[in-house]
Amino acid sequence: MARIPEDTIQQVRDRVDIVDVVGRVVSLKKAGRNFKGLCPFHEEKTPSFNVSPDRGSYHCFGCGEGGNAFGFLMKHEGLAFPEAVRSLAVEVGVEIKEEAGGGAPSVTEPVLAANLAAQALYRRALMGEDGAVARAYLAKRGLDAEIAERFGIGYAPDRWDAVVTVLQHEDIPAEIGEAAGLLKARERGGHYDMLRGRISFPIQDTRGRVIGFGGRAIGKDQEPKYLNSPESPVFHKRRAFYGFPFALDPIRKKDRVVVVEGYFDWVALARAGVEEAVATCGTALTEQHTRDLRRRTRNVVLLFDGDDAGQRAMLRALETLLPQGLRVSAAGLPAGQDPDDLLQNEGAEALVKRIDEAPPALNVAIARAVAEGVSTPWERADAAEAVVPLLALVPDPVERAEFTRQLAMATGVEPREIEAATRKLQTGEGTGEVVLQAGQRVRGPEHRHFELALQVLLNHPGLLAQAEDLVECAPDPALGELAREIASGASVDVLLDRVEGEPKQILSKLAAEGLGDLEGEALAARALADALSRLHALREKREREQLNRRLADDATLLAEKNAELLNRRQRQSAV
Ligand SMILES: [Zn+2]
Repeated sequence: MARIPEDTIQQVRDRVDIVDVVGRVVSLKKAGRNFKGLCPFHEEKTPSFNVSPDRGSYHCFGCGEGGNAFGFLMKHEGLAFPEAVRSLAVEVGVEIKEEAGGGAPSVTEPVLAANLAAQALYRRALMGEDGAVARAYLAKRGLDAEIAERFGIGYAPDRWDAVVTVLQHEDIPAEIGEAAGLLKARERGGHYDMLRGRISFPIQDTRGRVIGFGGRAIGKDQEPKYLNSPESPVFHKRRAFYGFPFALDPIRKKDRVVVVEGYFDWVALARAGVEEAVATCGTALTEQHTRDLRRRTRNVVLLFDGDDAGQRAMLRALETLLPQGLRVSAAGLPAGQDPDDLLQNEGAEALVKRIDEAPPALNVAIARAVAEGVSTPWERADAAEAVVPLLALVPDPVERAEFTRQLAMATGVEPREIEAATRKLQTGEGTGEVVLQAGQRVRGPEHRHFELALQVLLNHPGLLAQAEDLVECAPDPALGELAREIASGASVDVLLDRVEGEPKQILSKLAAEGLGDLEGEALAARALADALSRLHALREKREREQLNRRLADDATLLAEKNAELLNRRQRQSAV
């Protein structure tokens, strides 16, 4: 693929709103001129992630990660620079006329295009002649055409070449269809459709792009019941949620997310008016899932099937959710029913009520353990021990104490016994945490003065003439490189594409910190002059010390040489 011209990149930069780009992933709150939120790149409970709309940059004071909107997409979605530019260009309506030459073609865009073509086909097929059997199946489950239309539900025709043909039409190579997981290769050459004779659910990323499909069997002996897209360049089960783009706003508004396990369950919730819901796509809840949710809300309601498998899945989900400090409730369902059944049997109101009144999941776990019986000392011990591993995962000590008390009451085991057992588990597994993070290095006065000088130059182009002087007294090569770049007079979001590693971290930090009381140029000029004179003095001192050290080293060396010589002479004269 070709190179993107520099002025096009600049156009995209000018139009993109970084708050908008980051805001899709991180829940941001206004803080002065900037925005703050929980860093998506490291674990934290208090926000140290900063977005500066004026600068078009972000920076995390916790882990040091920083950059502009392109950098954010690259880091968060694993895109290459041109992919990030292209993706944002589409959003802000900048047309990219490529120059010849340049890097390797990206596979992301063609795979997304293949998914889009398949999605259009599946939707058409549901409404067409072939789709009668699928429409009948959906109707039986209470889903009409309007619902199917709203959520892009479709039908993969019961043919071997429906997608094959559509991709050919769109000039998309079958290999791309294979990479997307839409097609499979035949041993003797050629390809065939993966989803056949199934209801199709489009799985979308947070930006609404179709990244994969879930296929529900409708034939009696069709196996398996659910067939999901395999991993692809754009589809990662570990982080994909069905229904995510529809849920983003509702999650923020309700400050709550409801997690279910299946496509039909998700649709049942949507029909009942519960829009703040997501479904996992054929996998247990992962840590990545949990992080993506926690950035948006701390309140999670699990709504899993009422059977044994569903309850076990609930406990597994708890193990992933609790360590992240999430407040997890578990809505109970009658045994053998899933949310879809409940909606059909008892109606929307009953379903919503169960969600709104869902008790803390730990209480449910306690009730479950106690239900096995607590009449003998052994039973009481078993019941307590079944819940203690979950208690040990609760990071908040007050919350943990409260659940400890409840477990003690329910089982009749002494609270301090439970505390002791919990602590034993925690110290066995949870210690040795390394809290030190990159970018939290201790910096000397020279670095402080230097960064202040850079800050002034970034904000007052009128003082750029003094940049040369500054480059000379850089305390380390990274800062020297950054000073040279800043001396070019380019703006922060442009510079962030030019520098890498430590200079980038420092630059994004400076942009996030802002100027404080150095807004006025006169004051800033004085601060710069002051920093420069101190830097020169410190540099002289540093050089003098280095020289002295070298001289001292030399003197030591000389003394050793002399001693050795003397020794040799004495030995010789003794002979
Ligand atoms: Zn961070």
